[in-house]
Amino acid sequence: MARDPYKYPRERMLEKHIRGRGIEDPRVLDVMAQVPRHLFVRENLRSQAYGDHALPTEQGQTISQPYIVARMTELLDVHSDHSVLEIGTGSGYQTIVLAYLARVVYSLERVPNLARKAIERMRLFKLDNVKIQAFDGTVGWSEWAPYDRILVTAGAPEVPRPLLEQLKPDGRLVIPEGDRDRQELVVYDKTEDGFERHAMEPVMFVPLLGRYGWREET
Ligand code: SAH
Repeated sequence: MARDPYKYPRERMLEKHIRGRGIEDPRVLDVMAQVPRHLFVRENLRSQAYGDHALPTEQGQTISQPYIVARMTELLDVHSDHSVLEIGTGSGYQTIVLAYLARVVYSLERVPNLARKAIERMRLFKLDNVKIQAFDGTVGWSEWAPYDRILVTAGAPEVPRPLLEQLKPDGRLVIPEGDRDRQELVVYDKTEDGFERHAMEPVMFVPLLGRYGWREET
């Protein structure tokens, strides 16, 4: 097999920015040690693919910081029999991480061009458990509902109702909630009599735009 020039940067990312910052879940660490993140960033940014930061993608969107991807994945607590809905495919990096952990992943991206590129990237991985489509994810994806887990990777003013409704009993949803440019990572657990809400750390995501999200700027 050809030598992977990104093996060392990836190991360094794992030690310093992920394990070093408190991520312990062995399944999350294992997946992030394997997924070639450089294939998800623009060619001229590949040398920065394993740095401790988000990077710009096409259409003014971003691929999230590796630590944040790891943290959200850990909080989501994905098991191998789970069906997962992801809102905000973006580059598809987080989608792939979820796909290695879950039974099946459904991912929605608002920008058709990003969805198309992410679908092309998925082909490289020869995974048959990922479905990506382009539409407003704030309304969820009723076709495959209910889901064991839902992950939103864009910042919402508040959790979209349809997403809570598409969660299974005992299901979990992770979402950045707050202002347009600054949010808190929030975990919702569906219980017998409603939801438990736990706010975790501060985060910064691009806005979740759509019917139950922020209004698009005109
Ligand atoms: N997880 C991604 C991060 C994507 S950034 C990655 O690691 O690459 C957030 C993404 O959410 C953007 O691509 C943006 O276009 C998308 N987005 C924003 N509002 C959305 C909505 N209502 N439905 C689906 N995707 C949305």
